[in-house]
Amino acid sequence: MDKYIGEFLNGYAGYFQYLRDEILHPSWHNYFYWLLGLSLVVWSLEILFPWRKNQGIIRHDFWLDAFYMFFNFFLFSLVAYNAVSGVVVVAFNDLLAQFGITNLVAIRVAALPVWTQLALLFVIRDFIQWNVHRLLHRVPWLWEFHKVHHSIEEMGFAGHLRYHWMETVVYRTIEYIPLAMIGFGIDDFFMVHIFALAIGHLNHANIYLPLGPLKYVFNSPQMHLWHHAEELPEGTYGVNYGISLSLWDYLFGKAYIPSEDSGIKLGFQNMAQFPKTFWSQVTYPWIHKHERYPEQLETLAGRQPYSRPRAIRTRTAPRRKTPLGTGGRRGHETH
Ligand SMILES: [Zn+2]
Ligand SMILES: [Zn+2]
Repeated sequence: MDKYIGEFLNGYAGYFQYLRDEILHPSWHNYFYWLLGLSLVVWSLEILFPWRKNQGIIRHDFWLDAFYMFFNFFLFSLVAYNAVSGVVVVAFNDLLAQFGITNLVAIRVAALPVWTQLALLFVIRDFIQWNVHRLLHRVPWLWEFHKVHHSIEEMGFAGHLRYHWMETVVYRTIEYIPLAMIGFGIDDFFMVHIFALAIGHLNHANIYLPLGPLKYVFNSPQMHLWHHAEELPEGTYGVNYGISLSLWDYLFGKAYIPSEDSGIKLGFQNMAQFPKTFWSQVTYPWIHKHERYPEQLETLAGRQPYSRPRAIRTRTAPRRKTPLGTGGRRGHETH
């Protein structure tokens, strides 16, 4: 147990030191200044070449998103994730050792050139994330967390990192085993993270980015805007799930760009009831659950859904026909 506590404290102290060093020592290998620099570059593009001409330079929720950006990129890791994930990895390896497994690596790519390894990680990770993103839309309790990202009403680069911190936990947890099974010969994937960060910023930016035939490979603002559309094709939980690459959406029939209209309505049904501030948004999935899933809770309690008093029903969100929604966009129903 002492080992796990030590790991937690090490993770905590180590990250605090790391964050301080990041801010105090600008360098080319520094996430803090890359985030700042990329944000300024993409914001300048939005100001110089706006796709929606009537959108403000400081758009609706700009500062909220700026806070999310800083929180998700740095503070959340500082507060808990880094320390807790260190403990979980040690505990997980100990558990595997109980079964005689001391090495997860199944495929070795260490002999390949560095750039090939970077490209491999980029593509494999993007495909895993595409699948996780689909789960966030498909599984009702995960969707409650992902709603934070879909509550963006006016799209802009800073919206890229508006998401609930639980998404970090879900993505990292699911990625961990498949990536640990690949034996990379390098452990510095800084470039991959920065490249993905740049693409994510651009996909959310208020700019028009025609990619020509490359649109079948890379995601774009025109494509990702439809991911955020309130209206979705009947019978789907979402479209255009791509994070950096659009390739998976084209390969698996999830691509949907009916027009290049920049002014489509964004969000999800009943968004007016969704909280507007940081704290109320991050606590939202855990509170007032009974108001969102009244029929499920009552069914669990052995009561019929229609036995709920009318007075209560008027205060609740419209009811779903099935636990997974009515087939459209999750009642209606990533990144
Ligand atoms: Zn999404
Ligand atoms: Zn998005």
